Amino acid sequence: MSGLAELFTDENALLERSREIAARAGSDAETYRSALLELNGHYQRLMRESWRVISRSDRAERELTLLNERLRELAQRLEYEASHDPLTGVYNRSAIINRISNALLLDEAALILLDIDHFKVINDTWGHPTGDAVIGELIRRIERSVPASGSVGRVGGEEFTILLPGATLGQAGVVAGYIHASLNMSPLSVLPERLVTVSLGVSWGGQHSRFEQLYAEADVALYAAKHAGRNRVHYASSATG
Ligand code: GH3
Ligand code: MG
Ligand code: MG
Repeated sequence: MSGLAELFTDENALLERSREIAARAGSDAETYRSALLELNGHYQRLMRESWRVISRSDRAERELTLLNERLRELAQRLEYEASHDPLTGVYNRSAIINRISNALLLDEAALILLDIDHFKVINDTWGHPTGDAVIGELIRRIERSVPASGSVGRVGGEEFTILLPGATLGQAGVVAGYIHASLNMSPLSVLPERLVTVSLGVSWGGQHSRFEQLYAEADVALYAAKHAGRNRVHYASSATG
């Protein structure tokens, strides 16, 4: 309250004076008139000041709203960048691992692990930028075979995983078959000279099974697909879906 009194020293003194004048009966008209004029002047000043304060706080509020919006956008972008692979736009390694672990808490899930065949040859023959473009277009084509409930993640340089929550091994096999067929149907437009294929390993785990086990089994199946000649789908031996 002392701050308020300090801020309005003049006004307080004027109020005090006008109270005294009002209490004093029988003052002449000129005394009342000058007290009234003085009050009027101060009142106007107070109104002007209030107006200034109000517009300033309105402006500050608008600026704060804008800043908050930008902060929200930045936080969203940061979250996106922290969870996505910049080359392909799919989930990055840690984000897809999180999604697989979370999916397994809720339901059974199937996993497809795939690795581009002879990718080193593509890089060595057509150059690294073409290799990058191949990865990008290959992922776009693969995504067309993945149902909306599925998630694609990049787990290594040219190694990707597809999470299919609630899927059986058979359903995952259908998706893997689509991917295999779509890549064998025609070359990618960024590399018309050569068909780019992948090898795929498919595994399945019931609810509450562990990510590590699901992944390791898909990895063994992928290795078997590579060993058997590449460009094919192999299933984890322990998977029953
Ligand atoms: P395999 O069929 O056994 O998988 O043979 P591969 O040649 O695909 O496998 P290898 O592991 O020998 O080579 C993979 C290559 O992928 C090596 C690496 O330089 C390249 N690579 C990894 N990430 C990227 C990338 O982001 N862009 C490009 N252009 N190349 C990448
Ligand atoms: Mg490879
Ligand atoms: Mg590889």
